[in-house]
Amino acid sequence: MAGLYLAAVLAWFAVGYRAAHHRTTAEAEWERRRVLGEAPPPLNPCCLLAHHSNDAAHDHRCTDEFRRITLHPTNQPWSTP
Ligand SMILES: [Zn+2]
Repeated sequence: MAGLYLAAVLAWFAVGYRAAHHRTTAEAEWERRRVLGEAPPPLNPCCLLAHHSNDAAHDHRCTDEFRRITLHPTNQPWSTP
């Protein structure tokens, strides 16, 4: 029984790591295309913070250009030009 539980836990970890790897690969490809001057569409979800916060917040690696621009430190109301 303990072996079955261990196998289930390891399978759960494997699924999580696989999803994280796919997300990291997709973000890297998105960033590569952006740096090369293309305008790739945002990933779905645009960033993991938006996914976990129901679109209430976005992180600095957001793939939505509008969200990324508004998140830049120089665009914050408290920043000085
Ligand atoms: Zn986002």
